[in-house]
Amino acid sequence: MALGDCFRPYQTPCPHEHACVRCPALKMDPAQLPRLIQIEHDTQFKLLEAREHGWAGEVVELETTLQGILEKKIQIQPTHIINTE
Ligand code: SF4
Repeated sequence: MALGDCFRPYQTPCPHEHACVRCPALKMDPAQLPRLIQIEHDTQFKLLEAREHGWAGEVVELETTLQGILEKKIQIQPTHIINTE
């Protein structure tokens, strides 16, 4: 797993549909913070696009993903300065 480890046994199915940044099982690797921030920026861009097009369902999904990313950032570094750009 690119962002950390969920300790899921090798070759067992993922019960959470590989939505890793939203998954409570994911234990982040602190070294992957830059990758997480890139995912956050990509998700923010997609959210803007979804809002512009009025894709309500997609907006809800992307907002949930951003909340999951925020929780992972706090997991890595509880005192991390939260980027509110
Ligand atoms: S979604 Fe959760 S259980 Fe599935 S691979 Fe990602 S971290 Fe592991």
